Amino acid sequence: MPQIIDGKAISAQIKDELKERVAALKQEGISLCLAVIQVGNDPASSVYVGNKKKACAYIGIESLSYELEENTTQEELLNLIKELNKRQDINGILVQLPLPGHIDEDLVIRTIDPSKDVDGFHPQSVGTLCIGQKGFVSCTPAGIIQLLKRSGIEIAGKECVVIGRSNIVGKPMALLLLRENGTVTVAHSKTANLKEVAKRADILVVAVGKPKMITREYVKEGAVVIDVGIHRNENNKLCGDVDYDDVAPICSAITPVPGGVGPMTIAMLMNNCVESAALNR
Ligand code: NDP
Repeated sequence: MPQIIDGKAISAQIKDELKERVAALKQEGISLCLAVIQVGNDPASSVYVGNKKKACAYIGIESLSYELEENTTQEELLNLIKELNKRQDINGILVQLPLPGHIDEDLVIRTIDPSKDVDGFHPQSVGTLCIGQKGFVSCTPAGIIQLLKRSGIEIAGKECVVIGRSNIVGKPMALLLLRENGTVTVAHSKTANLKEVAKRADILVVAVGKPKMITREYVKEGAVVIDVGIHRNENNKLCGDVDYDDVAPICSAITPVPGGVGPMTIAMLMNNCVESAALNR
């Protein structure tokens, strides 16, 4: 049987460690505050925002909530961000994506002060990751590195294949694995012979956004499989990009969905907020 990588337990451990760090920072007179902006009331976004606020409360980070109307103009949103950029008491700014179609997401991300970019999406954050300097790292891939390390899985020298090249998951994932001295291949929708490429992996990270696409035909026996996907199947149950029942018996370790990568994203967001406060003190 494979090792089941328990994202729930690992994220709880990280949150408890952060709670202690926050208490220590407070002793030094440093308070932490995350500003969370949501535009419109997309139900999925509301759930994510609610979970982020709950995690803040648990760890001891204050959260300021800005719930803006769907028809908020781009200028109004940018003005709010600029105001929050200036406020000394706020060390993290998060704009819940996706934004309504009339707002330019890239411009919004670029307007956030990079020193408060706790999502790690600002081009400066991406740049520092690329050249190996200190900066905020996108939360989901950062969480995956923690899952691997805290499960005792060595990355250095391993063949790592990332399927997916999005800016928030695939690309930063590849850069982080490279930073950990993995030998990294990035596959995408134009990759030829995807099954063969994926089968080279000692560590296979799947972020394709296609329910249960990855079957055992894509997986080398004994590989570690990290499933980033989140979908609802025909019975309204959560499933990933990996066909778990098919793949689990042949791999050495695997993340379940739910309870694998998902819980790590918020834990790493909290980590970025704490790092932001610690860095800017
Ligand atoms: P995107 O849709 O932005 O990117 C998907 C990537 O997969 C693209 O690079 C695309 O290639 C590639 N791809 C699509 N189809 C194929 C295929 N048939 N063969 C090979 N590659 C393919 O998705 P995200 O990266 O944002 O998210 C991926 C999944 O992870 C989603 O299910 C999402 O819900 C989930 N997710 C989960 C998070 C969590 O906290 N657990 C956080 C973020 C995302 P190309 O570039 O060529 O189009």
